[in-house]
Amino acid sequence: MPTKVTARYVLGFNNGQHVLLEEACVVYDGDAITYVGHHYEGPMDKERHLGDALLMPGLIDLDALTDIDHLILDSWAGPEQAKGHQWSEDYFRNRRADVFTAEERQQIREYALIQLILHGITTYMPIASEVHSEWAEPFEELVGMAATSRRLGLRAYLGPAYRSGVNVVLENGERSVMFDGARGLEGLADALRFIDHVTELDDPLVNGVLLPCRIETLDLEVLKATAAASQERDLLVRLHSLQGLVERQLILDWHGVTPLELLDQVGMLNERLLIPHATYTDRNPAVHGEDRGDLARLADSGASIIHCPLTSMRYGSTLDSFNAYKAAGVNISLGTDSFPPDLIRGIDAGVQLAKILAGSNDAGDVAGYFDAATLGGAHALRRPDLGRLEPGAQADMVAFSLGDVRDGVHDDPLRTLILNGTARQAVLSVVAGRTVMADGRIEGVDLESWRAKGQELFEKMRDAYTQRDTGKRTTDELFPPVYARLER
Ligand SMILES: [Zn+2]
Repeated sequence: MPTKVTARYVLGFNNGQHVLLEEACVVYDGDAITYVGHHYEGPMDKERHLGDALLMPGLIDLDALTDIDHLILDSWAGPEQAKGHQWSEDYFRNRRADVFTAEERQQIREYALIQLILHGITTYMPIASEVHSEWAEPFEELVGMAATSRRLGLRAYLGPAYRSGVNVVLENGERSVMFDGARGLEGLADALRFIDHVTELDDPLVNGVLLPCRIETLDLEVLKATAAASQERDLLVRLHSLQGLVERQLILDWHGVTPLELLDQVGMLNERLLIPHATYTDRNPAVHGEDRGDLARLADSGASIIHCPLTSMRYGSTLDSFNAYKAAGVNISLGTDSFPPDLIRGIDAGVQLAKILAGSNDAGDVAGYFDAATLGGAHALRRPDLGRLEPGAQADMVAFSLGDVRDGVHDDPLRTLILNGTARQAVLSVVAGRTVMADGRIEGVDLESWRAKGQELFEKMRDAYTQRDTGKRTTDELFPPVYARLER
C-alpha cells in the first residue's frame, strides 16, 4: 500500500532536471515512487509529515568510507612523518599481519555502514584502507559485509578489493611498491567468485562490481585480466588512479606512459570505469598546468570520475576544476572517502574551492554538485532509476531537517543546507521503499554501544602503525597531539 511523505521542500524531477517544489509530497508503493507533486488524492496506507525539511533523492557515495577513521591521524603529516603511515620493506617481507580479527573486521564494516545511513547516503560503493590487512580484502569479509548491508537496508555495490603490490617505504627511505603477483591473481579470482555469490543472493540491493586497489598496486597481468572480465561479464570497475604525483611517476617509470594512457592501453578506459579523485590530469598545476587533451579523452571514453572534495581538500589538493571537467563533458559523481561521510560538507567544500580556483564568486556550481551527488552517481552506475524523485524511479530518498534555529534563515533550502548545515541533519532515509532511518534512529541498532566499539577499534588500529614504520617511531611520535599534553 502507498506511503505518502510530505515536506516543506521537495527536490523533484522534471524534463531531465531537478526542480524544487514547496509544500509537496512524494508517494511510493513497494520499492518505486508513484507520485511527486503538490496534490495527491489517491489511496494511502501511511503518511509522514516532515515539516521544515528538504526531501531529496538519497545521496550516492561511490567512494564510501567503510572503515574506521584514518584521516584524523594522517592528514597532518609532513613527508617524513607520512612515511610512518606506509609499510616498511621489512614489514612487507617478514612480518605482515592482520591488525584486526575477522570478527572485528565485520564490526568495522557495520560501524561504517551505520555512519553512512546517519549521513543520508542510500547507495554506496565501499572504500576501506588495506594498510591494516595482511594483504587486501578476503572473499569472506565481503560476504559478511553484504549480509550486514542487507540487514541494514542500504543499496550496495560491492566487491573485495585486490592488489598485486603494496605501497612501501624502502630501507633507503624512498617510496615504492613491492609486488607479489600471485596474490593479485588470487584476489581477482576471489573478486569473480564474489560476483557469483551476488548472483546467487539475487537481491536487487546488492550488486557485484570489481574494486581493484590503486593503479600503481596492480601489475599488467591483473590490469588486463580485470579489463577483460569487466568486458566479458559487463561489470563496473572502480580503480583509484590520477590520484597523486608519486603514482604518476611510478607509472611513467615502469610503463613509459601516464596513468590515463595506461588505463587506455589495458582496455579499461570505457563507460564501465569509475575513477576516484582523478585530480592529476594534465590541467593540474603540478602536472602541466594546461589542458593537453586529458579531459576530452576522459569524456570521450564515457568513464566517470568520483570527486571527493572534502577528503581532497584535507590532503591539500583539489579537483582543478569541477567546472572544467563538467564543461568538458566528463561525468562527475561524488564520494566521501574518509570520515566524516558527509556529502553536504563535501559539496560546500567543493563549491567554495571552485570559487577560489576560478577567482570568481559565481564559479560555485551548487546545482552541479547536487547533480553529481545524485544524477552523476546514478549515471556512473548505469541506473536511470536512481538519483531522482519521479514516478517509476526507485523509492530512495533522504530528508534533511532545516527546522533548528541554528540552521538560520531559509532562502533557497539547498543554499541554507550547504552553507549552514551538515549531513548530520538527515532525519529520514528510505531505500527501495524501506525506512532504514527515522529521526536519527536505526531499528535494532544501539548507537551508544557502537560509539564505544568504534573508539576501541580505532585505538587498536592507531597503535599498530608503529610496527610497520621503517623508523620504528612510537605512536605518540607518529601522531603528536595539537598541543603538548600535560601529565597529571
Ligand atoms: Zn579514495
